[in-house]
Amino acid sequence: MFFADDGSGARVEAWPKASAVCPLCRRVVRARCGEVVDWYWAHERGASCDTWAESETPWHHWWKLRAEPDQREVVMGEHRADIRTPKGVIELQHSPIAPEEIREREAFYGRMIWLLDGRRMVFGLNEFGLDDVARIERVDVPPWGGLPPPPAGFAYWLWRRPRTSFLAAKKRLFIDLGEEVLEVADKQASRKEGFLLLGRMERRDHFLNRAGLRPLDTTEEERVLSLLVRYLPKDHGRAQDRPGFHWNDKGPSRRWREFATGAQLERWRTAWKPAEHEVFEWHSSGRLAEREEET
Ligand SMILES: [Zn+2]
Repeated sequence: MFFADDGSGARVEAWPKASAVCPLCRRVVRARCGEVVDWYWAHERGASCDTWAESETPWHHWWKLRAEPDQREVVMGEHRADIRTPKGVIELQHSPIAPEEIREREAFYGRMIWLLDGRRMVFGLNEFGLDDVARIERVDVPPWGGLPPPPAGFAYWLWRRPRTSFLAAKKRLFIDLGEEVLEVADKQASRKEGFLLLGRMERRDHFLNRAGLRPLDTTEEERVLSLLVRYLPKDHGRAQDRPGFHWNDKGPSRRWREFATGAQLERWRTAWKPAEHEVFEWHSSGRLAEREEET
């Protein structure tokens, strides 16, 4: 976790050699302040008290810093919501998750959305640096027929090698692709092709605004970006062996930096149109088949 209780009820970030109190179980947590990963609080013996907590990355931190302090890592019963705004919970998901856990969390939090770390899907990289493993791309013609044309502002997207467990998700899914966020309004699986998504792409700053989150100031932004860049070689394993992914005395190559910050490839720039809807929708996604019957 990135925020703990300093003993007087104030939320504090970790600093070297500090200790604080876990806001959930009230046990002592110690600061972990390494060179490579972001500074965070850890329970003693490395055990986490929330069974849903995943090991956190600078990506989690990047998003949490965009919420007001009292909206980050909010204790709800025996769990800790990543972000809770007046609109509901935003669950940040970087790692794979089982369908049962998806259902449990949705039932527990109620009003919530999922925000997936999809930055690697822009480049088609997995954690081993392999190409064409997971990728999201816009398709003008869906790979199977009988589907209506997408509504205004939406498009069909093909998610190759998807996180299949997210077919179980009933709450709305957002995929963070870097500079843009893909809002998934509907999804349908095909064993062969992957997931067909009905969604709309919007700029990340636009999403932040809709979600009631805030932009970072320049100092915060630079700090988190530098952590993201430093974290990547570990995060993405053999990706550094790929062309363009150099790492030398001057730091990461331009391609690394683009990957870390989510700077987009040209094909994304031409693919999205900003969503015009300002209302943040929390209702669950329907199914493409039902949509077809409605029209
Ligand atoms: Zn705890």
